[in-house]
Amino acid sequence: MANSSELTPSPHIALLPSSGMGHLTPFLRLAALLAAQGVKITFITPLSKKSFICLHSTIFLHIRKAADPFYYHIEVTRRSCHLLSSLLPSLSPPLSAIITDMSLTATVVPITKALNIPNYIFFTSSAKMLTLFLSFHTLVGSKANTNLHEIDDIEIPTLEPIPKCWIPPPLLQDKNDLLKAYIIRERTLAALNGDKVIHGIPSVFAIGVLPPCGFQKTKTLAWLDDQAIGSVLYVSFGSRTALPREQLRELGDGLVRSGYSFLWVIKVKKVDREDDEQLRDVIGDELMESINQKGLVVKHWLDQENILRHPAIGGFLSHCGWNSVTEAIWHGVRVLAWPQHGDQKINADLVERFGMGIWPKSWGWGGEVIVKGGQIAEKVREVMRNELLKMQARKHRRRD
Ligand code: UDP
Ligand code: UDP
Repeated sequence: MANSSELTPSPHIALLPSSGMGHLTPFLRLAALLAAQGVKITFITPLSKKSFICLHSTIFLHIRKAADPFYYHIEVTRRSCHLLSSLLPSLSPPLSAIITDMSLTATVVPITKALNIPNYIFFTSSAKMLTLFLSFHTLVGSKANTNLHEIDDIEIPTLEPIPKCWIPPPLLQDKNDLLKAYIIRERTLAALNGDKVIHGIPSVFAIGVLPPCGFQKTKTLAWLDDQAIGSVLYVSFGSRTALPREQLRELGDGLVRSGYSFLWVIKVKKVDREDDEQLRDVIGDELMESINQKGLVVKHWLDQENILRHPAIGGFLSHCGWNSVTEAIWHGVRVLAWPQHGDQKINADLVERFGMGIWPKSWGWGGEVIVKGGQIAEKVREVMRNELLKMQARKHRRRD
C-alpha cells in the first residue's frame, strides 16, 4: 500500500514580487525556504528573459517612464496582472497558492479570488510598519484626496501612538504622489480594515527574520581580513538611496573624525548605471586622502551579507531599510540608524527598542537637514564604544 507521502503531491506555490531589491530579496529568501521544504516554486515576473514565466505585455510600451525606476517596474507589473487570469490556471501541477507583494494586493486579489486560488500577501517590512500602513487606510477612508496636513499622531488601540513625523512625508504632502496612490488603491485592505487595525483584517503571520539564501557567494574583501576583530564600522544606505553631495562630504568628514576604521559603500546616484562619476570629484582630493588612511570606500555593489558576517565588523551605520535591519539582527551587529525615507523611521525605532542601536532623531529624514561631520563622528564613537549595544546585538543574533 502506498504511504501518505506518495499520495500527497508536493504543494506548488507561485510568488509574484514587486519592484526593487528590498522586495525581491525577501521573496527569494522565502522561496528558498519553501523549496527546502519540498515545495515546488514558480517565480512570476514581467519582462525578464530569465524568468520562469514571462508576463510580457505590450501595454508596457505605453507607460510613461517614471523618474523612479522602482515605481516604473511596479506599474509594469501591475498593468501586466490581467494576464494572470489565463497564466495561473495553465501552470502544472495546479497551484496550491500564490504569494503576492502587498503593493499588488488590490490588483491581484480579485483575480485569484475568481480563480479560487489561495492568495497570501507578503508584506516585506515590519509588523509595526504594517500597522501604520493599515491605519493609514482607516485615516484616509474612502476619500483619496483627504488633506492629511492636519492629522495628529496615529492612535492605535492598545499600542503606543505612531508620531506623525514618522509617516513617510509623501503620504502627507503630495496629493498625486505615487506611493500614496498605491497605498490608497489597496481598497481590499481598506475594506478588510473596516474599523480598527486588528478587527477584520486577514490573518497576519510573522515569518522573519528570513535567513540569507546564499545565492551570491562572493569573496570577502582582503582589506577587511586585515582589520582587528570588531573594529570596523560598515556604512551603507542600501540600494536606492544617494545622499546629497554636501551630506556625503560631511559624512566622509565625520567618519574620518570618529577615529574608527570604516568600510563605506557609497552611492552617488540613485540609478547605478548612470553612476559614472569619480569619487574624488564628489568627495574632494583632501578628504579623499584622509579617508584612504582610515577606511575603504567602494562605489560598487558589495555583498552585504558577506560584510556583516565578517568578524572585523563592529557596527553598521545604516539607513535602516528593512532588509539591512534584519541582516544586522541575523549577524548580531550594532546599528547607528539614520533613516532616509519610507518605512525606515519605523525600522530605526525597532532597532532602538531591541537595544541594539542608536537613532539620533534630530538628523531627520535624508536631506531634510545637513548633519555635520562633528555630530556624525560623535554618534559613531557612541555606538562603537557602547558595550551594552554590542551585547544586546549579540543576544539577538540568529546566525549559528
Ligand atoms: N542591496 C544590495 N546591494 C546594494 C543595495 C541593496 O544587495 O548595493 C539589497 C539589500 O541586501 C536588500 C535590498 O537590496 O536586500 C534592499 O531592500 P530594503 O528593504 O533594505 O530597501 P529598499 O530598496 O526597499 O528601500
Ligand atoms: N545590499 C548589498 N550590497 C550593497 C547594498 C545593499 O548586498 O552594497 C543589500 C543588503 O544586504 C540588503 C539590500 O541590499 O539586503 C538592501 O535592502 P534594504 O531593505 O536594506 O534597503 P533598500 O536598498 O531597499 O533601501
